[in-house]
Amino acid sequence: MGIDADSERATVFSGWWLLEPQHTVGPTMESIWNPERISQLTELWNQGLSTAEIGRRIGVTKNAVVGKAHRLLLTPRPSPLKRRPGAVPRVAKVAKPKVLNFSGPSCSWPIGHPGDKNFHFCDEPPLPGKPYCAQHAKMAYIRPKNSSAA
Ligand SMILES: [Zn+2]
Repeated sequence: MGIDADSERATVFSGWWLLEPQHTVGPTMESIWNPERISQLTELWNQGLSTAEIGRRIGVTKNAVVGKAHRLLLTPRPSPLKRRPGAVPRVAKVAKPKVLNFSGPSCSWPIGHPGDKNFHFCDEPPLPGKPYCAQHAKMAYIRPKNSSAA
């Protein structure tokens, strides 16, 4: 009985220890970085691999890769795919303000009179190749011939 309890505890302990071996500060952490690994790190880093992928290839943890790259002053890579599980994303969703957009893909039919405070442009998506939306294209391209003038 006592033997069972002891082995159970031993398993838990060794499991805990294996979880974060790289968090040890000091010479142990540096010793994983032999010249070969450092050159591999630099090369893979410059190839644009993710830190996790680099770690897998040279056999160190992602944290070790990040820390070493920082110390080697490697150029930070803009990586939209870079995600840190558990980290709080710093990019907040920003509501796009509704603004007049004279060059964007929106109907440029003026509504109201220029100078009025309510003056704005219709913001509907325009017809392909036309500056106006379907509704305003109809109004813009009315042919006088079709009136009853004949
Ligand atoms: Zn319109």
